[in-house]
Formats: sequence, C-alpha cells, structure tokens
Amino acid sequence: MTTVERDIPPSLEFPPPMCPMCGEGTHAEADSYVCDRCQCGWSRDGDFESWSDIDAAQCDATVRPWEKNSWISMDESFKHEEFRCLLDKGHENNEWSVKHAHPRVNGTLWAKGWR
Ligand SMILES: [Zn+2]
Ligand SMILES: [Zn+2]
Repeated sequence: MTTVERDIPPSLEFPPPMCPMCGEGTHAEADSYVCDRCQCGWSRDGDFESWSDIDAAQCDATVRPWEKNSWISMDESFKHEEFRCLLDKGHENNEWSVKHAHPRVNGTLWAKGWR
C-alpha cells in the first residue's frame, strides 16, 4: 500500500469581529481588537479593554431610535427608550465616519434618530 503525499491546506483565517457599537469591523492590534471609529478596544477574548482616550468626556448626543416607528406602537415599554452615545465628546460625526454609537442602536442605521 502506498501513501499519497499531498499538500496541507493553509491555516484558517479568522475575520476580526464586528464592533458591537457601530457595527463596523474591528482590526487586530497586538493583543486587542480595536475599533477606529469608536476609539476603543477589546481583548482577544472579547472583553472590553479601554477607550483610546481614557480621560475623554462622553458625547452628549442621545437618540430615541424607535419613537417614530409606527410598527412598534404596540409596545410602549421600549418605544420611548433613549440612549446616550458612548463615544468621546467631540468625536467625528459626519456621513463618512461614525455618527454616534451605542450597542442598542448599533451604528448609522438609526442615525436620523440622533439629536
Ligand atoms: Zn465601533
Ligand atoms: Zn456621539
């Protein structure tokens, strides 16, 4: 019986996880995953590590993402929920970068709800 030699396949490559706040992809950096938009990082195990600027104040923007959605009118319990952006005060805020971010709002999808 002969053994057939064959090349081994390449190693798996794992795509970096999505940022839970803005919904964009993070990137690997040393032992962390970093979101450039949200300016923060997580450990390789997924635990939040820190903001890039630990002294920055929190953004003042708030959003009520479901307030104007008629399909949600049956559920008053969360219709008026309001979330405050978790990013740094004075963060970039334009259509090419992040608007505001919060895990319950997740990115630009609800950008019109921010005020
Ligand atoms: Zn992000
Ligand atoms: Zn903000």
